[in-house]
Amino acid sequence: MSEFPLTMSFDDVLLVPRRSDIVSRREVNLSSSISDRTFTLPVISSPMDTITGLDMSISMNDHGGFGIIHRYNSIREQSDIVEMAVKSGAKDIAAAVGVTADYESRASALVAAGAFLLCIDVAHGHHTNVERAIKTLRDRFGNKVSIMAGNVATAQGFADLEDWGADAIRVGVGGGSICSTRLQTGHGIPTFHSVLVASRARKAAKLIADGGIRTAGDVVKSLAAGADFVMLGSMLSGTDETPGGIFSNASGNKYKIYRGMASVEAQVAWRGKASSLEGVSTTVPHKGSVTEVLQSLEQNMRSGLSYSGARNLAELSEAPSFIRQTTAGMRESETHISRK
Ligand code: IMP
Repeated sequence: MSEFPLTMSFDDVLLVPRRSDIVSRREVNLSSSISDRTFTLPVISSPMDTITGLDMSISMNDHGGFGIIHRYNSIREQSDIVEMAVKSGAKDIAAAVGVTADYESRASALVAAGAFLLCIDVAHGHHTNVERAIKTLRDRFGNKVSIMAGNVATAQGFADLEDWGADAIRVGVGGGSICSTRLQTGHGIPTFHSVLVASRARKAAKLIADGGIRTAGDVVKSLAAGADFVMLGSMLSGTDETPGGIFSNASGNKYKIYRGMASVEAQVAWRGKASSLEGVSTTVPHKGSVTEVLQSLEQNMRSGLSYSGARNLAELSEAPSFIRQTTAGMRESETHISRK
């Protein structure tokens, strides 16, 4: 049996600080593009029913990124949300579709409502159903809409989805904070490793690092490894702009629900039954407005590029110097003063 390849996770690596002549974080340009659209913040909110609805997609646009409106509702409900978002002035509204049942009519309704991008949103994206869906949507809409697809974990997966016609590809299988795919199926690859290998297979499609990104540091590592954008679930969860109410516990602490779309709770809510569970549902502390989360993320990303002496994402990913750290190094990397 051949030796098993060693993979790397975000915590296994660090970026080596490099000489910098950036005197202000304002000099750093974080912009990134998909098709003909440029975004000043390379951050996308996940198409999940506790992350991206109307308010999140508008706020993501306001802060220079964009959101993907989830598909776990009727065609009418989802396309109404797209239409309301477009009417509010938000210009870059994206929405998710599946690969079976009503996905073609859903896609048509979303494009008619003004979506600039359709995200073919399935757990195992390196799949013949995804090939068929990309080709069907491309035939139907030409270049009128951008097509994102995924998720994939390998270089071959990325190359195939790009050949099938995807403009942007979500990379990461099994790494999400609410995900149990690796436990339930034994499959997956640490997201950081997938991003590294997929970026080497890329011709022109945009690479979206997705799943397991917990900190601004993980965001910067993803972009240095070759991602054009990061997709966030847990980092945006619990904010006012996510769908769903705020609850209080007996001690008065406020929280919101964040759940995997393959959790029993999410599946029962959108199709009345649950099968092949690959996610969990949890509560997260209420964080207030997403504005604060995104502003502090942006500041930290700017600092991150400055530590690498990089003025933009191309300079950051051109020849990144990653080193591996030991478990002792990882302990030192975490805040480690003992606090009472
Ligand atoms: P997070 O940012 O680590 O919370 O991960 C969010 C990502 O997890 C999403 O963008 C999806 O790719 C993925 N995801 C969403 N729901 C599920 C699930 O139920 N099981 C596995 N992965 C999921």
